[in-house]
Amino acid sequence: MTAKSAAAAARATVYGYPRQGPNRELKKAIEGYWKGRVTAEALRATAVELRAARWRRLAESGIDEVPTGDFSYYDHVLDTSVMVGAVPARHREAVADDPLDGYFAMARGTRTVAPLEMTKWFDTNYHYLVPELGSDTVFAADSAKQVGELREALALGLTARPVLVGPVTYLLLAKPAPGVAADFEPLTLLDRLLPVYAEVLADLRAAGAEWAQLDEPALVQDRTPAELNAAARAYRELGALGDRPKLLVASYFGRLGDALPVLAKAPVDGLAMDFTGPAAGDVDALAAVGGLPGKRLVAGVVDGRNVWVNDLERSLSTLGTLLGLADRVDVSASCSLLHVPLDTGRERDIDPQVLRWLAFADQKTVEIATLARALTSGTDSVQAELAANRADLASRANSPITRDPAVRARAAAVGDAHTRRSQPYPDRAAAQRAHLRLPLLPTTTIGSFPQTSELRTARADLRAGRIDTARYEERVRSEIREVIGFQEKAGLDVLVHGEAERNDMVQYFAEQLTGYLATQQGWVQSYGTRYVRPPILAGDVSRPEPMTVAWTGYARSLTDRPVKGMLTGPVTMLAWSFVRDDQPLADTARQVALALRDEVDDLEADGTSVIQVDEPALRETLPLRAADHAAYLRWATEAFRLTTAGVRPETQIHTHMCYAEFGDIVRAIDDLDADVISLEAARSHMQVARELAAHGYPREAGPGVYDIHSPRVPSTTEVAELLRAGLRAIPAERLWVNPDCGLKTRGWPETRASLENLVAAAEQVRAEL
Ligand code: GLN
Ligand code: ZN
Repeated sequence: MTAKSAAAAARATVYGYPRQGPNRELKKAIEGYWKGRVTAEALRATAVELRAARWRRLAESGIDEVPTGDFSYYDHVLDTSVMVGAVPARHREAVADDPLDGYFAMARGTRTVAPLEMTKWFDTNYHYLVPELGSDTVFAADSAKQVGELREALALGLTARPVLVGPVTYLLLAKPAPGVAADFEPLTLLDRLLPVYAEVLADLRAAGAEWAQLDEPALVQDRTPAELNAAARAYRELGALGDRPKLLVASYFGRLGDALPVLAKAPVDGLAMDFTGPAAGDVDALAAVGGLPGKRLVAGVVDGRNVWVNDLERSLSTLGTLLGLADRVDVSASCSLLHVPLDTGRERDIDPQVLRWLAFADQKTVEIATLARALTSGTDSVQAELAANRADLASRANSPITRDPAVRARAAAVGDAHTRRSQPYPDRAAAQRAHLRLPLLPTTTIGSFPQTSELRTARADLRAGRIDTARYEERVRSEIREVIGFQEKAGLDVLVHGEAERNDMVQYFAEQLTGYLATQQGWVQSYGTRYVRPPILAGDVSRPEPMTVAWTGYARSLTDRPVKGMLTGPVTMLAWSFVRDDQPLADTARQVALALRDEVDDLEADGTSVIQVDEPALRETLPLRAADHAAYLRWATEAFRLTTAGVRPETQIHTHMCYAEFGDIVRAIDDLDADVISLEAARSHMQVARELAAHGYPREAGPGVYDIHSPRVPSTTEVAELLRAGLRAIPAERLWVNPDCGLKTRGWPETRASLENLVAAAEQVRAEL
């Protein structure tokens, strides 16, 4: 431990905090407002209360400087669009009529007007609303939300720092508005946008802000020299303003790379940087650019996006090094705490010893405060905390949950042979044709059928003890009978059991695998009022018992047609969970793959000859920097092959992914060595099929011909048209006919009609061959 006490007191701060409230009050209030049960006034009052409660809670845990403006009714990027006046033309009327309803119209659309597009916030599972800009965009400052929230916090007697999405990141996250040329670059609007930021900053200064934080996470991605120049120009101009708060430019989710010297040289007053995980090396990078003389450094040393207790001594040693590199060092999490659940104290089902390994937002704020105290008053002042932390870390490291010798031995013994099918693809394809005897253009679905409210009620009843397991399972079996009966009648070729038993495609498996923890209250915002409870990959993973074999087997017993088994792949099992931080992701993936391999092998042994392993997260898990892609794709594809390679040549392995653009990973998709892939394609009119063909993809593929994202029923003619488009790219021997994705969010009426049309279209096009 090298931290000496700093001259100035180190402040503890965060960039953001979960928005929902301890009992998801915000979600309830907003959804109530949408349904007309909560008035706008009541919604505002709830929001004011929740904000005050969260600031008080932060202050009580020892946070010296609280964030403002990070709260949102829906999304902070949408809030930024409002702040700069970038309201799309189609929403202007609604916003003028009623700003609150207009805001929600931008977020969710109305019966007549489409919402903004939603996409993932960097490599997190939070989704933001994509700004739509064009050369005719006229920005105008609206600082009301930022100023209002700052005033609320100041009125509580707190030191507060407004947090804004920075102008460069805002523009880099935007896309050309509808009707604007696709090659329009929103960053060209920077000169128009900066005066708006200047105005907002002046308003914040007038309202009492000493500091303002501008978030520029886009700078941890690969940026062109022109983009870096734009960043330099932006902060030269904002720095030169006379009437402004001190500026803190924040980056997170990775290392700054070439952007570090740009920001270090900028005439701003401080930087907030991520020093966790892959960004730990930025300590050296910062030293290499000569540190931040005369500036404030906010050191993100507590992982803001994962759930593990911090290694306080290691953080103190990092902070000790950083103390020599800036005028003043403050302590924070690596990013907003938006990405983690609120409080471990609310968990009742996790072993108390294991719970001590975990830190959610409220535990992280205490860690940050402890670290700041150690910097200010020396480590003697935190001896008790350090001792408790050492004990928790040791308990985690030495627990049989964390280290299962059998799992480790098995993973260590994995060799190349385990990740390779016994025959090359062309030979397998022939064996599968002989075995499955499917028609040309075989029809199938992606797995799930409508999750009816009766099914959800049955699951809730089971959880609450109102029905027993036998009753519940009979409910699921009856659903399977229904689903199989319909598919036979409709004339589909490869059937599915419908996934009636699954609450969620990751959670269902996580609940049955050793090594995963489930939370009761670990809600994290996915988008808007949608919150999810990601499982926690805490220990070594194994599969004590088959997870899907009985359901798939039951479905098979009801029909003579092939039934496709359905599993979630290893990459997706990691991507939608909190992952271990004490071993490389690749190691965790390998363990999950081995557990899933057991399931694949058992399905095959039980008589299932078609098995689909879904990997919708393969592409979204791509690291932010291109330099890291190859290493990621190597372990990710290996994990998929390890899951699936143990089967006989005549067993057909399918995979499924939910996106339409993947030119950058076609090689990796080929490396999965699956026999059949299904992808989203309906909305892009089979663009995927043409891309696969352009890359010489040699395997069977099912580009989706039915857009399942809306209740609209595609006509037979439409589906047949899409199929013909598919056939122009992929030969009939290798083309499958299926929807874009699973049907769990659809209702039965449109599902029935759409699939009937899909089968009719396949028959029609087959007749033309
Ligand atoms: N098999 C899953 C389903 O049909 C796949 C879901 C997904 O791709 N997201 O629901
Ligand atoms: Zn999908």
